Order: sequence, then C-alpha cells, then structure tokens
Amino acid sequence: MANVKQKLWENNGTISATDGIRASSLNFEKGQRTRHQQKGNGFGSKTKTEPRRQSLNDSLEGDVRAFLIDEETLHTYDDLTKVNPVTPTTVLKCLQARYRVKVFYTHAGCTLVALNPFQPIPHLYSLDVMKEYHFAPQPQEFKPHIFIVAEEAYRNVQGQVEPTDQSLVVSGESGAGKTWTSRCLMKYYATVAASSSSPKCQDTIERIEKRVLDSNPIMEAFGNACTLRNNNSSRFGKYIQLQLNRSQLLVGASMMKGATEEQRQEWRMPRDQLFAWLPNTDKTLEEDCFKETTDAMKNLGITKEKQGQIFQCTADLLQISEEQLLACLRLRTLRAGKQSVLLKPCSMAEVFDWLVTFINRSICADKSSWCNFIGILDVYGFECFTLNNLEQLCINYANEKLQQHFVAHYLKAQQEEYVSEGLKWSFIKYQDNQSCLDLIEGNPTSVFSLLNEECRLNRASDARQFRTRLEKELSNNACMSWDKFSKQPHFTVSHYAGRVSYQIEGMMEKNKDPVPPELIHMLQASHDPLLQGLFAGQNTEESSGRGHSKNSLDSLMKILHSTTPHYTRCIKPNPECRPLTFKKEEVIVQLEACGIVETINISAAGFPIRIPYLSFLQRYGMITNSWICKQSINENGPEPDKNILGPAVADVLNVVLRSRPLDPSKPSETDSCSSLVHCGKTKVFLTHSMLELLEGCRDRV
Ligand code: ATP
Ligand code: MG
Repeated sequence: MANVKQKLWENNGTISATDGIRASSLNFEKGQRTRHQQKGNGFGSKTKTEPRRQSLNDSLEGDVRAFLIDEETLHTYDDLTKVNPVTPTTVLKCLQARYRVKVFYTHAGCTLVALNPFQPIPHLYSLDVMKEYHFAPQPQEFKPHIFIVAEEAYRNVQGQVEPTDQSLVVSGESGAGKTWTSRCLMKYYATVAASSSSPKCQDTIERIEKRVLDSNPIMEAFGNACTLRNNNSSRFGKYIQLQLNRSQLLVGASMMKGATEEQRQEWRMPRDQLFAWLPNTDKTLEEDCFKETTDAMKNLGITKEKQGQIFQCTADLLQISEEQLLACLRLRTLRAGKQSVLLKPCSMAEVFDWLVTFINRSICADKSSWCNFIGILDVYGFECFTLNNLEQLCINYANEKLQQHFVAHYLKAQQEEYVSEGLKWSFIKYQDNQSCLDLIEGNPTSVFSLLNEECRLNRASDARQFRTRLEKELSNNACMSWDKFSKQPHFTVSHYAGRVSYQIEGMMEKNKDPVPPELIHMLQASHDPLLQGLFAGQNTEESSGRGHSKNSLDSLMKILHSTTPHYTRCIKPNPECRPLTFKKEEVIVQLEACGIVETINISAAGFPIRIPYLSFLQRYGMITNSWICKQSINENGPEPDKNILGPAVADVLNVVLRSRPLDPSKPSETDSCSSLVHCGKTKVFLTHSMLELLEGCRDRV
C-alpha cells in the first residue's frame, strides 16, 4: 500500500488524506522521501521483506494467502488493520511472527502497539534513527516505531491552521514498557528540539535537553518500587508537559536526586540514610545524577539558595527540631468521634506521597516562556493481584478513565464523522465502560461516594458493614458482583480489562489518608521560608491525599480532552519479564483489555482514507477528463460550484468501479461497491483497495 501513497504524495503535495489512524495532513516536498530512503540505515526504511504489490488482485489475495497458506509473510504486516481476516487469532499470530523476527512496533489503526523485548535492542533508538524519522517527509512510510508517533505529534503541534497541544498516552499493564517508551519520547524531543535549533542557541537547547531528560531518573528515584510484576515499577502517574516556544524549542521542568558530600553536610543529610526510605535507591546512580540535576535546576532558574531549601525538605531536616519531625512523621492523629484523639503511626508511603506533591508544587514552569505543549502520559497500568485494595481501585479507575477517553476520541469520533458526512454504515459495537465508571465514581451513589461517606462518619471502620452497604446500594450495577464463597469482605468490579476483587478491610483507613495536621502545623511554623510560603493558609482538616489524587485525575482528563491524543499500547509478552519470550495467552488478554481488537476492526471495516471532493478531483479528475471534472478543478477560475463537485466525483468513481475485475465471491456488484467507497457530504471515503484501484486507473491514463 505504501507504494500507492508514495505516488500520491510525490505527485501532489497538497492532497489531504486521512489515514484513519496515523492521520495528518500530508504536506511534503516532492522527491524528498526518495532521497531520504536511499540514505536509510534500515530502521527508518520501509520493511525490506514487505512484498511490493503489483496489482489490486495480487494484494488482496496476498493478504488472505498470508494467513491461510503462508505464515512466512506474517511478520511483514506493519499495520494490523491490513491483516485479513482481522480476528484476535490472526492479529496475535501477526504480532508473534513480528516478535520472532525482532520487530517490536506495529500499527493497529490509530494506535501503535509496542511489544516489550525485555532486552536492549542495539541501534533501535540511536541518534541516526531519530534523525531518519525526524527528517523524513512522511515518517509514516517507514517501519512502525515510537518515533513515528513522536514526530507526528511534533508536526501537529505546529499546526497547519493553528497550533494544537498534543498528548501522547502510553498505556499498558505493569512491566509492559510505558516508562521506557516515555523516556524514548522525551529523548526524541530533546534531540529534535536541539537539532532544529540554530547553532547560536545550541547551548541553551542542550541545557534544556538535559533538564527534560533529568526528570526521568529523579521521578523514578522517588516514585518507583520493586513489585511482583516489574522491579522498577512506577507507583505514580506521570504527565510531563514538554513546553514548546514559537520556534518549536523545548522549555521544560524537572526535580531532584542525590548530593555531594559537601552538600550533604551543608544540608545535614546523612550519607547512608539519605532516601533510605525511598524505593530504588542506587548510590552510584544517585551520585551520577545529582550534578545533572542541580544543573537542570539552575537552568530552571532555581537559585542555589532555593535548591538548598528544596533538598532540605526531602531530607530529614525541615528547619524544625528532629524529635518534633520524627514524632510527626511516625505518629498521626486519628479522631474517633468528636472527642477522643488517637495517635497512629504514619507509613513511609504517606510521607513519601506528601513530599513528592510538595516538591512538584514548588517547581513550576513560567507560562510566559512557552505557547504549546506535547504532553507525555505514563500512567500505571491496570492491576489485578491476589489481594487488591484502594491503591488498585484507584489505578484501575484511572485506566478506566483513559480507556473512555480513547473510545471517545477515536472510536466514537470516527463513527460520528460517518454520521455527520451522511454515511450509512453499520456501527461496530465497542465496549463502553461508562457503567463501570458510574459504579466507581458516579453520582449520587458509587463506591467512591459511599466510601467517602463512611469516612466522614468517622466511626470505627467496619468492613462487613461497608460491604452490606455496597451490596444494598450498588448491586443493580452489572459491573458489581460478589464471590459468595469468599470469607473476606470484598467486592468485585468488572473492568474493561477484566474482573478484579477488592478487599474492603483497610480501605476506609487508606481513603482517609490525611496529611497529619501536626505536620502541617509544624511546617507552617518552620524557619524555612520555602516551607512557610508553601503551607501558609493550608487547612489541616481537609488535606486528604486521595481527594487530591481524584482532583489531579480530573484535571488530567480535562487536559487530555483539550489536546490531540496519540495512543501507544505497550504489551508485556510474558509475565516473567524474560527476553524475547512471547506467550500468546498473556498477549491476547492484553489486546482485548485495551480494546485493540475493536480498534482494528473499526479501522479495517471502515473507510480509512478520506479525501475532500476538490482534492479528489484534482488528482483523479483526469481519469474521465469529462467536462464536469474540468469545470470543477479549473484552478484559475472562480471557486468551484459545490453542486458540481458531487456529480464529478461520482463520474470518476463510476468509471473506476466499472473497470475493476469482478469478484465472483461478492453477492452483487452494488454491495461490493459500497464496501469500497462512500461519498459523504464533503469527502470521499475510501478503503485502501479503492485507493489502489484509483491509482491504477490514473496510471493507465
Ligand atoms: P509499571 O506500570 O510497573 O511502571 P512500565 O509499563 O512502566 O511498568 P517499564 O518500567 O517501562 O514498565 O518496563 C519494564 C522493563 O521492561 C524495563 O525496565 C526494561 O528492562 C524493559 N523494557 C521495556 N521496554 C523496552 C524496550 N523498548 N527495549 C528494551 N527493554 C525494554
Ligand atoms: Mg512505569
């Protein structure tokens, strides 16, 4: 198919065709791509083994043959929507075949599927490969790669008409490769921004590049933990905005990690105890990163003095007495009813959460220095352990929200476009997860609302009582169920990605999760000006961590809705994280869970190429060369009359459809025409096969 698109682009630099998926305006400079391909180093080049398709018949039969007869060619399918027939089994086989030959990226309609190799792949992310994708007039033509997604967003942010913010949503289960992918994306942008700058500002760019990349080890140092599924698992959702100025250069933000001996002494951070409570403490890494981090902070405009204050906040010194602080960190007040006050130990996780929130708040980029952004969302994947509690419910809830966003943006939007263009096309059923979201967060009654109510009552937590309440109020929601034989109080939610049972024991305690009032009082009284500023006026009664998380998820969703999203679905090919090991049963569950099968179906069954009438006639009008066509595309004449565009397009389509070889397997010619092409109100909707037919006719003229 690529050869057809290439022709399309080489001959006309202005046709805007939407590829359903990797859709963007196809603007390019004639001839550049060919030159570029000649220089290709392999990664940025088209798949060498991909068969060049000679004709429409060859190509259609070839697709079918691939699955029915020749599994040898399966790995050559760069887009799962081209697999024929598209079924979970064929899709799975295709991915497996690609994985076997070490091809880890595959398009799936509007989504990029990334299989985790669980071993470093030499040169896959090298500077040369980045340049290949960045300088390609049409990177979509190259092998599927995360850099295609990156480049598309980078070009989109400039906007043909007006700049648009972009979001790169990287999702998948724990250990699938989200953080790795996010790092690749950040590295790409850091490089691209540097390479596109003039030598004069190279210095500045390099500093910014460093700063952007620095945020990774910092965030990971503070927020990752070794879990059963991933020994460097992100325990926080990360949405990094890469802020771009009008010249497409980066202006970003980062945090901190590690310290020199001198600085440790200055800030009274004991060497062996530093970050001892943090997961993933690697001393060498810590020291390596520290200088980069302080440099990055300097770039951000954080003075040495301010840096000192920030570092102190993450050590065990807050300009308050050590005993006082330790007492506060270790004990927290619980109010039972109005009177009694109990002291309960704080977990390190609570302290950690609070500190990270605090540091994040204190480092804020200046809005005046950037105009648009590319956001990268690396969010913890769907989780289902033997025992699941509030953490898993929140994680899975966030994933439900993202899934809904995905459905809304692509599947619904795609079908809605057909409707608005007046196309009568059978709708593909997709899994709508609204009722699951209603169950978790809905109004007036949901798991969250009942949980909050239970916590507000401030009575001694009783898991069984809460379970009875849930059953009474929510059992009419089909996504809620209970295992009759389980001894522990629990509830089971049918998520889009599978059923998860949550234990109720401890859930209310976790939900209260307030920042200890003593800690806030104490910080307000600190001699540290940074802390004083941060905590002035903070209400100690309302500092619930979970409430904050819910709000931050809501604002994240708002941001996502205001941007153009690009989806990458990371897949974990085996649960043991073994290199190059593909377990079909693991992969299929993930493909179904993230809606890939539906996405593929909808893209393949639909009309992924959309060309506005005028553009269509400018390219294909020559096939009939009729008066009406000439009239409609007379470039020097007045604006073409909209009423003649439709008949002119119909003219061309009739000629082309009549010229095609008849397919005896189709019940009637009419049916088969409507499966190839549809005319909307302003656009022609085509399948890839129809595009090939049109190109063939055009070539013969
Ligand atoms: P979590 O939700 O637990 O944070 P995650 O999806 O962020 O999981 P990563 O930490 O990105 O998972 O990936 C897990 C491991 O898989 C990495 O530490 C790395 O070893 C390996 N990995 C992921 N992607 C790649 C890749 N493209 N090439 C090589 N190794 C990879
Ligand atoms: Mg991660």
